[in-house]
Amino acid sequence: MDASGEKYSILLPTYNEKENLPIITYLICQYLNESDINYEIIIIDDGSPDGTLEVAKQLQKIYGSDKIVLRPREKKLGLGTAYIHGIKHATGTFIIIMDADLSHHPKAIPQFIRKQQETGCDIVTGTRYAGDGGVYGWDFKRKLISRGANFLTQILLRPGVSDLTGSFRLYRKKVLERLVQSCVSKGYVFQMEMMVRARQFGYTIDEVPISFVDRVYGESKLGGSEVIGFAKGLLYLFATT
Ligand code: UDP
Ligand code: MG
Repeated sequence: MDASGEKYSILLPTYNEKENLPIITYLICQYLNESDINYEIIIIDDGSPDGTLEVAKQLQKIYGSDKIVLRPREKKLGLGTAYIHGIKHATGTFIIIMDADLSHHPKAIPQFIRKQQETGCDIVTGTRYAGDGGVYGWDFKRKLISRGANFLTQILLRPGVSDLTGSFRLYRKKVLERLVQSCVSKGYVFQMEMMVRARQFGYTIDEVPISFVDRVYGESKLGGSEVIGFAKGLLYLFATT
């Protein structure tokens, strides 16, 4: 399929994902090899105490160091800086960001790539809130928080993107570099700010519907403080953009 000759760097931030990492790695390789895509997987482990890094080292032996690149960090420094760290080491012209907990299915990656090639856009974002996208396995509270955050942002900032809090996306590397430099927020609001800033800078964004399935193994890191952080970030962007 992929005659473009482009290389794609997939950033996988991990914190306590030892059960999920072998499966997600297998699936990524499976789907991308099938579509003849040139790629590397960059695993950024945040000093997981559960031995995720040891698992990653085993995977590197199996799949080869050209496919699996390890860029671990000493301790849990959070998602935002994990992306910055990963981008620095990425050798692709495009970067795909996804969670390692199997909530994001690797089968969507070739769809993102195809979409980008069709439209020539700068960003492709997975969306749970358009077309046949959806969310599975979340309780009512978490659905309400996610819907509420998206709804409020749509009203206040009119970004023209249907899923602002998702984190399964493809970016042109140069675009992503500029966006992370200009984004001020931390935590979940960061995903939303990226889309708002992208619009501000005039980058083009396309969407691909995805199914988000809640993690089976391990624990989510969303807490009450993240909700407050999101509300603050949203108001800040409303006031300044
Ligand atoms: N993660 C990370 N460092 C952190 C917190 C999370 O690398 O400090 C990773 C985590 O392993 C997963 C992704 O970021 O691959 C998303 O985290 P999580 O699934 O906990 O968030 P949720 O899906 O609940 O929003
Ligand atoms: Mg998750």
